[in-house]
Amino acid sequence: MNNYIEKNILPLVTKPITYLGNEVNAVHKIPNLEMIRFAFAFPDTYEVGMSHLGMKILYGLLNEEKDIWCERVFAPWVDMEEQLRLHDLPLYGLESMMPLNDYDFVGFTLQYEMSFSNILNMLELGKISLRSTRRKEAEPFVIAGGPCAYNPEPLSDFIDIFVIGEAEEVILKIMAAHREWKKTSGNRQDFLKMAATIEGVYVPAFYEVSYDQKSGVITAFSPIIEAAPATIRKQFIEDLDQAYFPDKIVVSYTETVHDRISYEIFRGCGRGCRFCQAGMIYRPTREKTVPTIQTKIKALIESTGYDEVSLSSLSTGDYSEIEALIKNLVCDAEVGKVSISLPSLRIDSLSIEMLEEIQKVRKAGLTLAPEAGTQRMRDVINKGVTEENLMDTVKTAFEKGWGHVKLYFMIGLPGETLADIEGIADLGQKVVDEYYKIDRESRNKSLKVVLSASSFVPKPFTPFQWMGQNTPEEFKNKQRHLKASIKDRKISYSWHDSGVSFLEAVFARGDRRLGLVLEKAHQKGCRFDGWGEYFDLQKWTEAFAEAGIDPEFYALRNRDYDEILPWDFIDTGVTKKFLKTEAEKAEAAVTTPFCPENCSNCGIMEFKKGWKCNG
Ligand code: SF4
Repeated sequence: MNNYIEKNILPLVTKPITYLGNEVNAVHKIPNLEMIRFAFAFPDTYEVGMSHLGMKILYGLLNEEKDIWCERVFAPWVDMEEQLRLHDLPLYGLESMMPLNDYDFVGFTLQYEMSFSNILNMLELGKISLRSTRRKEAEPFVIAGGPCAYNPEPLSDFIDIFVIGEAEEVILKIMAAHREWKKTSGNRQDFLKMAATIEGVYVPAFYEVSYDQKSGVITAFSPIIEAAPATIRKQFIEDLDQAYFPDKIVVSYTETVHDRISYEIFRGCGRGCRFCQAGMIYRPTREKTVPTIQTKIKALIESTGYDEVSLSSLSTGDYSEIEALIKNLVCDAEVGKVSISLPSLRIDSLSIEMLEEIQKVRKAGLTLAPEAGTQRMRDVINKGVTEENLMDTVKTAFEKGWGHVKLYFMIGLPGETLADIEGIADLGQKVVDEYYKIDRESRNKSLKVVLSASSFVPKPFTPFQWMGQNTPEEFKNKQRHLKASIKDRKISYSWHDSGVSFLEAVFARGDRRLGLVLEKAHQKGCRFDGWGEYFDLQKWTEAFAEAGIDPEFYALRNRDYDEILPWDFIDTGVTKKFLKTEAEKAEAAVTTPFCPENCSNCGIMEFKKGWKCNG
């Protein structure tokens, strides 16, 4: 198959190099019958997937095992899909070009609800039965994990095994169970029962859900076999400093979204922004030490040749030894030669000086995320930054010659008024005014202020999980109102398609009845829904109608605090009581302190007996 594809298909598609797994540091092994073949599937393009940190970690981790060969597979772009269908060839793993339905496992990472249709498309292109119930004995086990797995229900018809929480330890336990199972003459069900006993594993086939016939809400969710626990406890790595991270990562021959080393310096965040799912599900905060970070970055620079390193986390400026770390890296003979970038810096922890010190090449623009236009709204979402923080930061930036500032906001937040929308335009104007206060000689010759307003999507395991989303019409009105409120030509404004955000909210807060909708949408050709040129709301609307499902029931409806939520069977450690209290504080625009300042008992320390938060 390899030669046929290389000769007859790749010359006909764009970016053929992304369909050949022979990049620097790609892992090739000599297969044998004992070997577990694992295809790590990223449900979006190569360029997007190759920048995903989780894939790098698990690819390295699994390939450390002598009897496991982990390979990569990405959603083929439309021209490649067309060729595969035309030649009736299966989608394949990049390293060995083995058809997807020949692997023992196909593992999807769930980063974004709009990639769900790509999952079905990749299964079909890989000649794997879409529904778990129809999979034959020899077909791969389809496994999935990642942030969207915190509400696995919409995908429960198609995924055999979900990993809830951080996968590093759980995935190896699943592989160990598979080795044991292969020694028996057991069937698929037997393996799934073995997997269901591993903490952090959810096998949806072993649970049933019942609904109120009139209201449609869930009335019960329960396991149907003894091996399946009633509650799935999220798994997290306690000692992140000693956790596995590869010394080598695959270096692509073609440009990817993040063409650099992305190294995770800590996990979790104690800021408690009420819209942020990551800030809740990745608790508690766990840091790596400066020596560990320095050593690993050196190894990665050596094995990749990259000239830029990004120190990644949810809020890099909150790393407790950030100054010491930066000093060490900048002064290090090897690391000092590369450029260091600090993504996700909060306005109040950002120091332009720090940025200047580390950036060998100054980035064109400065990106800041006030998220809301008024202080009241920032308190509602517990963002913890003030207008003063923002003005201080942009003032320093303009004094140092920066001229391009991008500000991230959300519209459609709970409790939002039109005054809060106007507040976004006002904040943009104040940034412009701050620029003109700077002496003409020292400021940048040109100024560009971009206001980017995404549409709020309520997510599971956040204080806003009970809140309905704005209707697409409400979003459009607010987008129009914001546009009309912007007077200065130095300010440009970008917004998100409310149709996409609506669908995202349906799947974020949906239940397993959405499986039929996904299947119908897939049959209508829906895929790459996260790409504007391919998203087709009309097809989705037809799919909902044919499935007899009302999408507004999931996206727009406020839920009672005592309603059974589709994801309630998962215990993340952050209690429902804490989330409810935070939701009530949001209504009153009352803030909650940053964990290091004061613990607000979210439940993590009870969840993991003996765990001591260091904030
Ligand atoms: S237990 Fe306290 S300090 Fe720890 S994550 Fe929760 S709120 Fe923060």
